[in-house]
Amino acid sequence: MTSERFGEQIPFCEPHWYQGGYSPYYNDGHKKFRAVVRKFVEDEIKPNLDKWIKEGYPVELHKRSYELGIQGIIYPNEHGGTQPKDYDIFYELVMCDELARAGGGNVLGQSGINSMALPPIMIAGSAEIKKKVLRDVISGEKNICLAISEPTAGSDVANIRTTAVRQGDHYVVNGTKKWITGGLFGDFFTTAVRTGGEGAGGISLLLLEKNMPGVNVRKMETQFDNSHNTTFINLEDVRVPVSNLIGTENAGFKLIMHNFNHERLVLAAGACRAARLCYEQSIKYALQRTTFNKRLIEHQIIRMKLAEMARLIEALQDNLDRVAFQFKCNIPQQKLGGPCALLKVNASKTFEFCAREASQIFGGNSIVKEGKGKVIERLYREVRSAAIPGGSEEILLDLSIRQIAKL
Ligand SMILES: Cc1cc2nc3c(=O)[nH]c(=O)nc-3n(C[C@H](O)[C@H](O)[C@H](O)COP(=O)(O)OP(=O)(O)OC[C@H]3O[C@@H](n4cnc5c(N)ncnc54)[C@H](O)[C@@H]3O)c2cc1C
Repeated sequence: MTSERFGEQIPFCEPHWYQGGYSPYYNDGHKKFRAVVRKFVEDEIKPNLDKWIKEGYPVELHKRSYELGIQGIIYPNEHGGTQPKDYDIFYELVMCDELARAGGGNVLGQSGINSMALPPIMIAGSAEIKKKVLRDVISGEKNICLAISEPTAGSDVANIRTTAVRQGDHYVVNGTKKWITGGLFGDFFTTAVRTGGEGAGGISLLLLEKNMPGVNVRKMETQFDNSHNTTFINLEDVRVPVSNLIGTENAGFKLIMHNFNHERLVLAAGACRAARLCYEQSIKYALQRTTFNKRLIEHQIIRMKLAEMARLIEALQDNLDRVAFQFKCNIPQQKLGGPCALLKVNASKTFEFCAREASQIFGGNSIVKEGKGKVIERLYREVRSAAIPGGSEEILLDLSIRQIAKL
């Protein structure tokens, strides 16, 4: 199938199937959806981005995105999703890719978090929990966070310390959760708690709710901007009905791990477009900016930088599509651990490289928060948030080989 052209036509500024390339993965449905998301970003996000980056974005944007058929597309229709008949995971890649085109600022980042915090409920939640949470979150009326990490346990999930002690028909929860994305928007929290003994076998998932006494959320300032609400959560004697248990007691670790593959795919898709944006901004700048009586692009060393960026981005896109295709083919999740881990590292390292090279190409303009280099300045500060959350590079590289060695 030949793809009609869409978007920017300078080579490599868009994925190959936007620029007349053939693809076995993307069809007319994806193309239609792509146009919807692009229009949303161009008309409703980009004009407001600078403001939202300073002040935070309006949470109503989730509802708007749902109304347009965007946010709901990744969820089954029985829970309020808006999936077309031919839905596959490539719709989700299109959504992540096009939203990331906004150019930094984790606008709608919360919808990504919703997609990470809901699967345990869809897989293992009781009918009561599903009714309470799914439709409202999917339609953008409410939000949910994934509260796993703690001050003393980020990578080392098996050693979380937050406890949930059973007292009659309630658990009493005490502990702290750190770096929880979207906490200030969160109505619900898919929370990892210790209900049993030490290690992975003592962990359960519990649904906490914002209005439960003892749940205190505060914002953490970050390296990047205000559209991303990263939070610290203090849990003090929070009484949670036993009916809020997601799945069975002490079986939470498996659900958390199961979730990670999808989370890493989604994060990689966002990082891939962020890297591409670095390239797009750079090549446009290099075609215009003159130094020593030549355009930047006429200096060979600048062309080398652009070529290396394009080479890595194109390889990353192929990697992304290939791993997504394994999801589409329902390859068991255990087999996807290594490929998803390597994909996410590939994505964050490519983004890091591209942000660095873009910054060099823009020179001083990439260091100020205004003018032609402001997108690069912003993206540069977001690199580490691609490399650490959702599995840091070291942990993921180790995981990909550890599985082979059965360690
Ligand atoms: C912006 C942001 C958003 C986040 N959002 C969420 C969220 O929504 N929900 C949530 O639950 N968590 C969230 N996190 C937490 C995130 O998942 C953790 O920060 C991450 O898993 C790393 O954990 P850590 O920071 O405790 O680092 P540590 O685990 O303390 O590790 C420190 C460093 O040592 C390395 N390291 C650790 N162990 C090993 C080892 N065995 N071998 C080699 N190297 C090792 C790590 O790679 C890392 O570089 C978020 C974090 C950030 C920064």
